[in-house]
Amino acid sequence: MRNELHPISHWHSFDELRAAQEKLLDAALRHATRAPFYAERAGESGLWSLDDVPLTTKDDLRSTYPFGMLAVPKAELATYHETSGTGGAPVPTPTYYTAGDWAEMVDRFLRNPIPMTSDDTLLVRISYALVMAAHLGHQSGLAAGATVVAADARTLTSPYPTLVRIMRDAEVSLTWSTPFECLVWAATARLGGHRPERDFPALRAFYTAGEPLGPARRARISELWGGVPVLDVYGSTEIGSVSGTCPAGTLHFWADRLLPEIHDPETGEYTREGTGRLVVTTLYQEGMPLLRYDLEDIVELYYRDCPCGWKLPTLRVHGRILHDYVVADRQVSAAEVEETVFRLPADYGVLFWRGQAAGDRLRVQIEVEPAHATAAAADLHALLTRAFDVPTDVETVDPGTIVPLDVLKGTRRTAKPRRFFGPGEDWDDAVIQA
Ligand SMILES: [Zn+2]
Repeated sequence: MRNELHPISHWHSFDELRAAQEKLLDAALRHATRAPFYAERAGESGLWSLDDVPLTTKDDLRSTYPFGMLAVPKAELATYHETSGTGGAPVPTPTYYTAGDWAEMVDRFLRNPIPMTSDDTLLVRISYALVMAAHLGHQSGLAAGATVVAADARTLTSPYPTLVRIMRDAEVSLTWSTPFECLVWAATARLGGHRPERDFPALRAFYTAGEPLGPARRARISELWGGVPVLDVYGSTEIGSVSGTCPAGTLHFWADRLLPEIHDPETGEYTREGTGRLVVTTLYQEGMPLLRYDLEDIVELYYRDCPCGWKLPTLRVHGRILHDYVVADRQVSAAEVEETVFRLPADYGVLFWRGQAAGDRLRVQIEVEPAHATAAAADLHALLTRAFDVPTDVETVDPGTIVPLDVLKGTRRTAKPRRFFGPGEDWDDAVIQA
C-alpha cells in the first residue's frame, strides 16, 4: 500500500490536509483488516468508517503478542521491537516495521528546521536494545549522509567523559538523546574543566525525545550550551516520531502521515482537536497498522495557524498519565514539577532534582552548591506552592548526590568479559560484570 511521500510544502490549507487524510484513511482502514486483530474486529462487514473503530490500547498489543497485529507477510518485516510494561511481571509489547515503514519514518524524522546534512556528525545516545528510537536517529543520520556515532545509552562502554571527549574531538554537531542527557553532559563537561557554553563550537542542535520538555527546561538546556537550540521530537516505539519542532519553535503533529484525534475516556467521545488523550491512526504504516491507538498521553492539539506557515496542527504534550501522582487530593505530574524546578534562576546552577508524592505532601530535593542552597530552597518552595497549592517540602543536597559523581566522572569499571589472563593479573576480574 506504499503511498507517495510528500513534503510539508505539498499542501496549502487545513482543508487540503483534511482531504488528503480522508483519502489515505480509506486505504489504511482496508489495510489494517489484513491483521488478525482488526479482521476479527471488522467481522463480516469488513469495511468501516473510523467512527466504528474502537480504541486500540497497549493491552491489545500485548494480548495479541507476537504477531496478531501483523498486516503483511512476515517475510516483509525489516525489524522487530519490544517495550516492556512497568511494574509487575514484564509483558512484552511488540512492534514491527517493514523497509517501507522505515523509509517513511526516516522521512518524517528528517523534517526539521535544522536539517541533517552530510557535513553533520550525529551522536546517538539512546538505548539501541529492542526499542526503536536510537535506530530511528541512526537510520535518519545515514539517510541524510551524516556521520553517525552510535554511543548507545544504559551501557558501560560509553561513560559520560567518553561522550564529552567525542563531542569535542569528533566535532559532534547534532545529538539524539533525552533532554536529561544534555544536562548530564553539561555537568560532565564542567567537571572535566570545559565550558559547555564555549568549548563545543561544532554543536548546532540537540534533537531530544523520551521525556516531556517544557519551555523553562528547554531554555535552560539551550542557555547552558551557549544558545544551541533544543528540538524536541515526540513519539513512541509503536509509531515513530509523531511530531516535530517548526522554525518558529512550536511542536506540530505530522497529520499528513498519522491521523490524530482527541479522546475523552469519560464520555467516550472523539474530536478532531482539543485537550485530552491523544489517539492516533496510522495512514502509512504497513507492518503493524494501528487504528485509534491510545498513546496514553494528555495533549492539546489544534488546527490553527502558526507563524512558520506549516499547515499542520500544533501540539502541546502534558505528559504521560502514568507519571502522575495524587498529593493531598491534587493531581501532580512529573512534567510540571520539573518545569517548576527549571524556573529557578539560572545562577543557582540547579540541574538535577528528584521528587516524591509522599501522601499529603510533595517532597522535592534539588542538587545545589551550598552558597545558593538557602535561596534556592525558598524560591522553589514558593514556586511549587504557587503551582500546586499542596503542602511541600524542599530539601537541598550537595552536587553529586542525585546524579553520583562517579557517573559523571566515568570512574566505574567497565571491563570486557575475559577468560584468559597474563602473569600477575587478577583472574577474579569478573568474567561478566553486571
Ligand atoms: Zn509552526
